[in-house]
Order: sequence, then structure tokens, then C-alpha cells
Amino acid sequence: MNPLLDFSGLPRFGELKPDHVTSAVDQLLADGRSTVERVTAAPVTWEAFVAPLEDASERIGRAWGQVAHLHAVLDSPELREAYNANLPKVTQYWTELGQNQALFEKYKQLASSPSFASLSPARKRIVENALRDFRLGGAELPPEKKTRFGAIQEELARSAARFSENLLDATKAFTLVVDENRIRGIPEDVRDAAREAAEKDGKAGYKFTLHAPSYMPVMQYAEDRKLRETMYRESVTRASEFGKTEWDNTALVARIVELRRELAALLGYANYAEVSLVPKMAESPAQVLEFLQDLAKRSRPFAEKDVAELREFARRELGIDKLEAWDVAYASEKLRVNRYAFSEQEVKQYFPEEVAVQGLFRVAETLYGIRIKPADAPRWHEDVRFYEIRDNTSALVGQFYMDLYARDTKRGGAWMDDAITRRRKGSRLQTPVAYLNCNFSRPVGGRPALFTHDEVQTLFHEFGHGLHHLLTRVEDLGVSGINGVEWDAVELPSQFMENFCWEWDVLRHMTRHVDTGAPLPRELFDKMVAAKNFQSGLAMLRQLEFAVFDMRLHAEFSPNRTALQLLDEVRQKVAVLHPPGYNRFPNNFSHIFAGGYAAGYYSYKWAEVLSADAYSFFEEHGVLDPKSGQRFRDEILGVGGSRPAAESFRAFRGREPSVDALLRHNGMTA
Ligand code: ZN
Repeated sequence: MNPLLDFSGLPRFGELKPDHVTSAVDQLLADGRSTVERVTAAPVTWEAFVAPLEDASERIGRAWGQVAHLHAVLDSPELREAYNANLPKVTQYWTELGQNQALFEKYKQLASSPSFASLSPARKRIVENALRDFRLGGAELPPEKKTRFGAIQEELARSAARFSENLLDATKAFTLVVDENRIRGIPEDVRDAAREAAEKDGKAGYKFTLHAPSYMPVMQYAEDRKLRETMYRESVTRASEFGKTEWDNTALVARIVELRRELAALLGYANYAEVSLVPKMAESPAQVLEFLQDLAKRSRPFAEKDVAELREFARRELGIDKLEAWDVAYASEKLRVNRYAFSEQEVKQYFPEEVAVQGLFRVAETLYGIRIKPADAPRWHEDVRFYEIRDNTSALVGQFYMDLYARDTKRGGAWMDDAITRRRKGSRLQTPVAYLNCNFSRPVGGRPALFTHDEVQTLFHEFGHGLHHLLTRVEDLGVSGINGVEWDAVELPSQFMENFCWEWDVLRHMTRHVDTGAPLPRELFDKMVAAKNFQSGLAMLRQLEFAVFDMRLHAEFSPNRTALQLLDEVRQKVAVLHPPGYNRFPNNFSHIFAGGYAAGYYSYKWAEVLSADAYSFFEEHGVLDPKSGQRFRDEILGVGGSRPAAESFRAFRGREPSVDALLRHNGMTA
């Protein structure tokens, strides 16, 4: 039997081969299509209509999830080929489902039928989410508008791709080769890479580019001020009128904003920001702007102080009388080292893998009344660990895989994915399973792996996503775990968990020097906290500037004002550091013009406020207080997408979110 078609338990990673993919996908998609056909003719009830559809979708999601997971963590030429051959078919299936007019009608009938009232809140929400997504996909438009809607979507997709290509081409086009005299201050490894890059081109000297690994160290460390200025100017004018005409993103930016406005109008909204917020936790563009402006107002004094200190330091210690945009990163790095020098290498010695992982488990066990134990399961690689979570009655709550080390066959970054989602299937309750993937360094020379403090935070972060998925109490697929959770609230549990990595009472029990066994010294911890909050006001205002610009650009459409003019206007109000007039930031703001963040950039700060404020409840009641943990599990983790995130937050916190805790955690208190 094809292991991808076995849904009786855990994935059969030991037996799964690339050959299995195509036949499984073809069969599951065919089953899915016949299910759709069948339920379209079935009575309009949850059991006859939604349930079979969820079953079919779950099987496709689970099987394809295993293939996508292996493609991400254990890539091989054969698997990549199977993945790429089947991806378009799977994507096509989901697109078809989202545009199926008969299904849309069916959901509408269900929502207006008498049986709707008797559905559980979770099921009601699944039906409402489905209707919302159909509507946002243009399902309710008359034929001629539907055609235009499709054309807009297509042009938007093409424009986004073009935006990225232009930016990439402009980035690649610039290189600078300099001699020995101009590289003072630049770290050894960056110099070596620059020399090798020049050698490859058959040149002597050091070659620098606008790609981050080359550009950032120059801006941060190069003593040659002219070098920094040249690199800065080239970077901030990429894909603008100052470069090649065919790579200029200016017209594309205007076109994308205009198309989004038209799309919003077709759907009956005043602007695109409103469309973007429909499936999110934030209620309106006005609410978001008020939130951002309040944060800006409150962080401004701290940012002004950061800048004043930086200017003074640059003048006194570096001989820079007028601090320019290309001096900021350089002077900041010098000031940071001057004030808070400590070595990441030193910190690492206190976080051997086993100590960090057990520390994480202890936090989760204490807070949520669970037990985490190693268990057996088929794995895809010998690095992988597998664990099960049980509650205090020993009942199985969920299971998870942990694949922590970097490998050539694994993609970069860290992420959590769901393997199996909690749901009720008749009398049986299916328990959830999660994948936790990181790219940490593996043990070498018989010593345990040592994690940097950053890596420990990443581990806590991804585990937070994992707990959201695993500790759910919801029994319906569409809103169980992280399913159906609003996009701007989904980082709440993950960022929440990071806070414990900054808690002295937690850290001193979860650190042990790899050689001496001593816990992290308090003095070193204090330095780490101070370094974390270094220039936090400045960093905050910079993010707020981008977020306000993004929201206003999509909320206040005006054909007579360019994106750049709006950005200038925003900067006058928000920024404390003003870049030179040639800066063309909008032309490389990929998040909102080529990524999924249009009228959504605010969500970084939004989720940070939620997680910091949720954590402050624990600060008030004891950071490892099990009663507070139970409450967090009941009101946030357990309910997942089964009710609006705003309601869940209020239920947990007992009030609306407040920005106070985030400001305090960033050292921004008067
Ligand atoms: Zn995350």
C-alpha cells in the first residue's frame, strides 16, 4: 500500500519514497473532486455537506504536507522532481475549490438554514470563514465584474513578480572592487569573502555588493566613510529613476496601488486597506493608524534620546561632526561595543542543547500542566527527535518531531508545521502532531551542541507555535490549532514564549556552563538585557514609519500624490532620522509590493503588543504561575481559530490590549 494513503496514524517516513508521490496525489485529487461533486447534490447540513468536504481536504493536506515537509528538510533530486511535478496540480485543486460557485451557493444556503443556529460556535465560524473567503475571492460579483476581477488579480501577480525581479537585477548590477587601503574595520571573514569574490572575477582587491551579507558589514564596520556613502547611495536608489530605466519600480508601485484600489472598489470597499483587514484581528484602518501613532508618540522621546547620544558619541569619539545616513549603523555599532561589549561565544557556553531543551520543556510543563517525554516514531533522519505530550491523567494530548540541526538538504530558517490536526472523527478523537524545524549547529568533537541566546529564543518561538497547534481543544478541522487564526494574531503564542528567555528566574535554571556546570552569571545576563534594549526607541520608530506608510498608502488613495511624497509626509511626523532626498525606499519595499504584507506591515508590532501584554499578566501573577498558564491555555491556545482573536485576548487579559508592557520590555519607561 502507498504509505501516503495511510491515514491511520503517524506518517510512515521510513517507507515513503518519491515514487509514491504522483500516484497518491492523483488519487487524492480525484477523490476530492468526486467528493465536491457528491456534496454539491447532498442535503444542506453540516454532516452531509461540510463534513465530507473536510475529510477530503484533510487527506490531501496530510499527504501533501508530508511531501512538502520532506522537500523542505530532506531534499533530493528525485523528491524535488516529484514535488515540482505535483505542486501545480495541488495548487490548481485549491484554486478550483475556492472558486466553485456551487459550493459557495451551498455554504450560503447552510448559513441561512434553520440548522445553522444549532451548530457549535466553531462550526459556525468555519462556515462564516468560508463565505468570507469566497466573497473576497470575487465569488459574488456579476460576470463582467468577475472577468475584470480576475484580470486585476493576474496583473497584480505579474507586477509583484516584476517588482522583485527589477530589485534583484538592480541589486546584482552593482559591484565595487577596492584595494587594501579601503577595508579597514571590516571583519576578517567578510574581507576573505570579498577577496575571493574579486579573485573569481580575475581581479585583485576586494569586491563588495549590495547583497545583505556584503552590504551590511560595510555599513556597520568600514572606517572608510566614502565607501559607506557610495554603498548607501547605491542601495537606497536601487530600482529607481537613478538607475536603468527598465528596472525602475516607480511606475510599478503606482500601478500596484491603483490596481488594489480598483479591486477593493469592485468588492464594495472604500479602499484596499479595508479589504486587507477583513480576515484580520484589527478592525479598521483608523484603528490601526491610531495604534501606530500612539506607539510612535510614546517611543519618540526615547528615539530622540538615542539619536542625541549617537550624535554626541560620533562627534566626540569618531570625529563625525554631522551624522549622515551612512554613518548611523557604523556609529551605532561602535557605541554598542563601547557600552555593552560581551561575547556571543561566551554566552553560548551556558546553553548546551540538552539544558536548553529541557529548560524549555520545564517551562511548558509547569505552565500548562503537561508532561513531555521522548517516544518512538518513524523518522526521516537520524537527527530527528520525537516526543509526546500527556496531561495529568496520562491521556495523550499530542506529539511532535524536533529536527534542530542545519543540513545541506534542509532549507534555511526555523518553522513549525502541522502534520496532523486535532479533530473528532465519530467516537474517536484524533490527536495533533507537529513538526518543529530549526537550523542550529550540530554537536562537534564529542561535545554537545551549544546554542546562542538567539537560537534559544528561536526554539522557544517555534515551540510557541507548536503549543498553539498541539494544546488546542477544538474538534473541527477548519479552526483547530492554528487553523483559522487571524494573520495578525498568529504570532501571539510564539512571541509570548520568547519572553521566558529574558527572565532571570527561568534562565538561571536553564543554563549550565558546558565545562564548569555553573549557571549564567547575573552580570552577563544584565549586559545581555541592556544590549537588547540598545536603541530600541530608534528601532521602534523605524518600523512604525514603514507601517504607517503602508497603511496610509492603501487607505488614502490619491492619484495626485506619489508613494514617495506620502512617505516624506509620514517621515515628517514619525521619523527622528531623515534620510537624504535621493532615498527611494518605496522602490525596494518588497514586503508590501511583492510579498503578502500590503496594509499588513503593522502586524509585526500588533502581535508584539499582544504577546508582551499577555506576558505582563504572568509578570503580575508570577512568571511560572500554573493558574495563569491554565488561563492562557483555556482562553488563547485551546480555542485556536474557533472565536475571534480579539475576544480570546480580552477573555485572557480581562481588558483590551495595552502597549505599556511592550514599551517596558524594550526599556522605554520614563
Ligand atoms: Zn513565528
